[in-house]
Amino acid sequence: MAPFITFEGIDGCGKSTQVQLLYSYLTNQGLKVSLLREPGGTSVGELIRSILLSNETSNLLPISELLLYSAARNQNIHENIVPALNDGVWVLCDRFKDATVAYQGYGLNLDLNLIKFLNDLVSQNRKPDMTILIDIDPNIALARARKRNLKNHNEEGRYEQESLTFFHQVRKGYLEVAKKEPGRIHIINGSQSINKIQNEIIQLIMPLLCTGEINGIP
Ligand code: ADP
Repeated sequence: MAPFITFEGIDGCGKSTQVQLLYSYLTNQGLKVSLLREPGGTSVGELIRSILLSNETSNLLPISELLLYSAARNQNIHENIVPALNDGVWVLCDRFKDATVAYQGYGLNLDLNLIKFLNDLVSQNRKPDMTILIDIDPNIALARARKRNLKNHNEEGRYEQESLTFFHQVRKGYLEVAKKEPGRIHIINGSQSINKIQNEIIQLIMPLLCTGEINGIP
């Protein structure tokens, strides 16, 4: 079974940058890798993404939001994640179920038991083998995300209208989750340079690269 690695952190922490860099690194090693993102990654999921991240859906109620994220994840797990892992393909996913705990649980104060129920319902018992949490001060991350979105004319800005307090809550949520699962979730300081963070991530995944099973050696 190939490894399943997820990337987490608040908007602008550098997840997408690092997931792309790791994708290039692994494919250059000759490995088969699937690069996915949540919400999204399937045709239904991308449609859900456009609803969730649009500036025009500011009246989306928290429970509706939670159900949409769960529906997108359900599609992603069934259509992409499980088939890829079963085929020996590495899966890198930009956000996964910890994001729901952090954003909808800690950020929007939805019931954590309900979130766990929905996460368990859609996840077919698949947990990431490793999660990279890029932790950073929301002031720095949001400044980066705004600059990026202006540059890319990116309309996916609904969360950026949230207050800084919201992102502090989300960050706290991620750190709480990480505290509960230190074996799976690795915290990296996101205020470091892109290269430094990439090197730390490569060090972390090295043991996965070195196991014979993962390289297809019996
Ligand atoms: P996320 O996917 O977490 O929202 P991105 O990877 O898109 O974040 O990064 C947000 C912006 O910050 C991008 O313009 C990216 O080039 C820049 N960036 C990413 N990592 C760093 C870093 N370590 N230092 C400075 N800028 C960064």
